[in-house]
Order: sequence, then structure tokens, then C-alpha cells
Amino acid sequence: MGKCVCMIAEFRGGNFRRVSFEVASEGKRIADALGIGLRGVAVGSGVAGKAAELGQYGVERVLVRDDPALEHYLAEIYVPVVAEMIKKCDPAVVILPASVDGRDLGARLGARLDITLVQDVTQVVCEGGKVKARWPIFGGKCFAWSEWADGTLPIMSCRPNVMDCLPPDTSKRAEVELADIPIPESRSRVKAVDMDSSGKVELSEADIIVSGGRGMKEASNFALVEELAKAMGAAVGASRAAVDAGWRPHSDQVGQTGKVVTPALYVAVGISGAIQHLAGMGYSRYIVAINKDPEAPIFSRADYGIVEDLFKFVPAFTEEVKRLKSTCS
Ligand SMILES: Cc1cc2nc3c(=O)[nH]c(=O)nc-3n(C[C@H](O)[C@H](O)[C@H](O)COP(=O)(O)OP(=O)(O)OC[C@H]3O[C@@H](n4cnc5c(N)ncnc54)[C@H](O)[C@@H]3O)c2cc1C
Repeated sequence: MGKCVCMIAEFRGGNFRRVSFEVASEGKRIADALGIGLRGVAVGSGVAGKAAELGQYGVERVLVRDDPALEHYLAEIYVPVVAEMIKKCDPAVVILPASVDGRDLGARLGARLDITLVQDVTQVVCEGGKVKARWPIFGGKCFAWSEWADGTLPIMSCRPNVMDCLPPDTSKRAEVELADIPIPESRSRVKAVDMDSSGKVELSEADIIVSGGRGMKEASNFALVEELAKAMGAAVGASRAAVDAGWRPHSDQVGQTGKVVTPALYVAVGISGAIQHLAGMGYSRYIVAINKDPEAPIFSRADYGIVEDLFKFVPAFTEEVKRLKSTCS
């Protein structure tokens, strides 16, 4: 068995993405169960000064490659660099975020290192010194458990917002080791990144999401969803019907052909709950559905259901949220 669990952190725009801390926390749980240490791999521009932060989530030592060429994820350079760093760690298990970049990186690392990747893992257990991973299949209709044959290296990407983050221990810092790994020439380069400047919370990282569907009737009515989202500190999502109607951008779409989200709270407004929508939000911790049709399939997955006309309910609910927030603050 290798000497450690190796977690790969995701560093963007000068900070670790939250999912990195979830992956570190899960890595720590696996490492403790296997009786081995937890090491980190962090690449990016400016990451060296931040890498010790991973120690708050149990990472003992972080191998870092810091270079301006690594500012943006580019498979051509990230894959060979990260692959070399993983080899240096001599891991028993590799774990990384199932973010957009992480899924791409994981698949390429699997091929390059000739190891078997399981993507989008939602639960990990260790039994008798072996690791087993649970992951959703068939659009989330059921789960598969995978385990690795003896002598193979488990590598898995973990779905964001599912693994519990350990409470950060701010007294702990990870030891940082700079890796002198050459950065290969790349045929492509990122010239510019168009960031959403609206200040919106990114859907896949949001703790609370309020989504609207065809029941909103028209684009302008999404103001109701936006106002409720603002009052709750939530991100705004949409069903494909709302996106196809041109009421919302595709980046807001939740579901099989949109984003997979796992917030603590998902509020579905005027959404029927088609299987393709459920594939994207069905694993939210709590689901609240607002729909005038008591037979809408969303109610079979909702923790709380409100059978009511959304145009009556949502404005009143928003006012109540605002009132509660003002009395609590
Ligand atoms: C290959 C494929 C991929 C797909 N991918 C996705 C995907 O990624 N995401 C996705 O969402 N869909 C996806 N779909 C589409 C999916 O099948 C549904 O058509 C879609 O989710 C329906 O969106 P909706 O719930 O907003 O609309 P509808 O199914 O039309 O539901 C609207 C709901 O609003 C309620 N309503 C209407 N008026 C009111 C009111 N005044 N007050 C309260 N409730 C009201 C109605 O009772 C109804 O339940 C995909 C389909 C296919 C075939």
C-alpha cells in the first residue's frame, strides 16, 4: 500500500475552491480509517502562499507547483504536472473534486497513470483496509458501489456539496513543499476568461438555490424568484423549459443536461419535477416545492410541499423571509 491518501486541491482566482476543503475532509476520514497520512497536491498561480491553509482540514503536507502558466486549467499542462506530483506522493488513494475541471483532470489522470477512476462519488467507506465508493448512475435513478481490485490505485472524484467539511482547525497549517516539476510547452493557451460580473452566487457552489420553471409563465416573472433568492442569500436556477423559452441563460439550467447541484436547500417554484430535472437536484439536502398541482411529481421528492399558486405564495413568502431576517439580525 502507498504511504498516504493524496487529495488534489482546486485553486482558482487566488483561492482554494470550497470543494477542495470537502475533498480534504473526506481524504482525512479515509486516511484515518486506513491508518495512513493525508497529503495534498496544489497547482496554480500564487498557490504557494495559500497551500498551508489545507492543514486546517487535516492535510499534513502539500506538494505545490506555483507558476503563472498554471493560472487557468489547461489539460495539456495540468495533466503531466499533476501526474508527476501524484507519483511523488506514492499514494494509496487519490481523491479530487468532481467539479467541471476536476472531472476532466481525473479522467485524463486515470488514462495517463493507467488507473481506474470513479467519477462523481457521493459516499466512501473503508472496510478491511479497502476503499469502496458509491456513485449515482442512470441520471441518479440508482447507485453503484465500486471497489478496486488488489494492487490497483483507487482514484475518485467527489461530488461538490456532498462530503461534510470538517470544522476548520485554524491552529493547524500544512507543511508546504515546492515541487520542481517542469511545465511542458502547450499548443493552446487561455487568453481571457469572461467571468460573470453580476456578483451572482455560482450555482454548483450555492448552499441555497431557488429555481423557477415553466410555471413562471414569462421571463419578467422571474423577478419573483430573484427577489426570494436575494432575501434567502440564494442562487437562482431554472428548469430546461424556462431556459428553452429564453427566460434564463443556459448557465442557470439544473438537470441532466444542465448543472448537477447539491445545495443544503433547493426551492423549486413552478417546476413539475421531470426525471431529467431531478437528476440535477434530487440529492439536495432539503427540497421545497411550490406548485399548484398536488399531483406534480416534484412532491414525491420534496421534504416540504406547498400546493398553491406561486404568484400568490412567493411574494408573501419573500416578505416573511425578509421580516424574519430583519428580526434575527
Ligand atoms: C434528453 C433530455 C434532457 C433534459 N434535460 C433537462 C435538464 O437538464 N433540466 C430540466 O429541467 N429538464 C430537462 N429536460 C426536460 C424535462 O423533461 C422537462 O420537460 C422539464 O424539466 C420541464 O420543466 P418544468 O418543470 O419547468 O415545466 P413543466 O413540466 O411544464 O412544469 C411546470 C409546472 O409548473 C406548475 N405551475 C404552473 N403554473 C403554476 C402556478 N401559477 N403556481 C404554481 N405552480 C404552477 C405546473 O403545475 C407544472 O407542474 C430534458 C429532457 C430530455 C428529453
